[in-house]
Amino acid sequence: MPELPEVETIARDLRPRILGATIVGARCSWTRTLRTHTPEAFADGVAGRTVEAVGRRAKLVVVELSGEAALTIHMKMTGQLFVVPAETPDDPYVRVVLELADDREIRFRDIRKFGRIGLYGRDPGTGDLVTEVGGSAVFAAFGPEPLDPAFDVREFRRRLRRRKGRLKPLLLDQSFLAGVGNIYADEALWASRLHPLRTAGTLRPADERHLYTEVRRILVEAVERRGSSIDDYTAPDGDGSMQEHLQVYQRTGEACQRCGRPVKRIVIGARSTHFCSWCQRLGAADRKGATAILRTMTGGTRRAGGRWTELAGEGSLGLTLDEAARAAAQARTERTKRAAATRRAAARASVAPDTRS
Ligand SMILES: [Zn+2]
Repeated sequence: MPELPEVETIARDLRPRILGATIVGARCSWTRTLRTHTPEAFADGVAGRTVEAVGRRAKLVVVELSGEAALTIHMKMTGQLFVVPAETPDDPYVRVVLELADDREIRFRDIRKFGRIGLYGRDPGTGDLVTEVGGSAVFAAFGPEPLDPAFDVREFRRRLRRRKGRLKPLLLDQSFLAGVGNIYADEALWASRLHPLRTAGTLRPADERHLYTEVRRILVEAVERRGSSIDDYTAPDGDGSMQEHLQVYQRTGEACQRCGRPVKRIVIGARSTHFCSWCQRLGAADRKGATAILRTMTGGTRRAGGRWTELAGEGSLGLTLDEAARAAAQARTERTKRAAATRRAAARASVAPDTRS
C-alpha cells in the first residue's frame, strides 16, 4: 500500500499535468469509491471547479479546487491515478473519472476497490476541510507530517513519551505520525537498531533521536527514489526504485546487510514485520507478553556449526533457509513482474502532458 513517499510521488507527478485544469464532470462505476457523495452529487460538486494545487497529507493525495473545496484521494491497496486523453479506451478497473475541459480525464484505477475519494468544502472559520460547516476536520485525527520542518526531535520525543505501545504498531498509527506504513516502519526500525516489539517507554534519549533521524532519512531517500514499486504501486510518470534499496522489508531469510545473519519475519497485528534479531535486540522486560508474537518468527536460526541452515520458531513453515531465501526471491520476482505489467498497462493508457491535443 502506498505510503508517504509513494503518495508524495503521485502528487508531484500529477501536479504539472492538472494544475489549472477545469473539471467539467465526473463518472463513477463503483459508488463506494466515493466516500462523501453519490455519483450524481459528486459530479455536480466538482463540475466547474479548477485545480488550484496538488499536494499530500498523510497517505492521501489532496487536490485543491477553486471555490474553497478539495478532493482527497486515498490509494489504499491498489489505487492508481492516470491522466489520459478522453478518447483512451475504458479500462474495467477504472472506478472514478474526472472529466477535464481540455478533453483529458483523470482516471482513478483500483483493482481491489479499497481506494476512496472524498469531496470536501473548506470551513470559512477554521480553513479546515470539512463535510459540513462546523463539522470535524477531515485530517483532525492525523499526527504530524514526519518531513515537516516544524516536526523536530523534541516534538517526536514528546509524542513518544506519551505512548506505552510497542514501536512497530506505534509507527503505523496514523494519529502518532502521518504517512508511515509497513515498509518504512520496518526499514526505520532496522536502521535505528530497534526491535519492532520494543516498547516506547524503554527508549533512551539516544534511541529516540536515532529513530527520529532514521524515519526521516528513509522517507527522504524513498521520495528521491520515487517510492517502492511493490505490488500495484506506480505513479503517473512511472515506477519508483526504492524497492531495490530496502534492507529488510520482504527480505525474510536473506542476509542482514549489517551482520550477515538472516532477516526474520514476525506477525504483529496481522502485519508482516521484518527485522534482524541480532542487530535489533529485545530486552527481557519487552519479551513479556510478546511470546505469542515471537512464536510466529520465521527466517532461519544458527546451528552450532556456524552455518545458517534452518528456520526457527514454532510458527515456521518448515522450510530450510535456502528454500526460504529462494521463496523470498521468487516472490520478489513475481511482484516485479506484476509491477512491470501494471507499468505496461499504464504506458498504454497514459500520455505525457506535452503530447495532449
Ligand atoms: Zn543484523
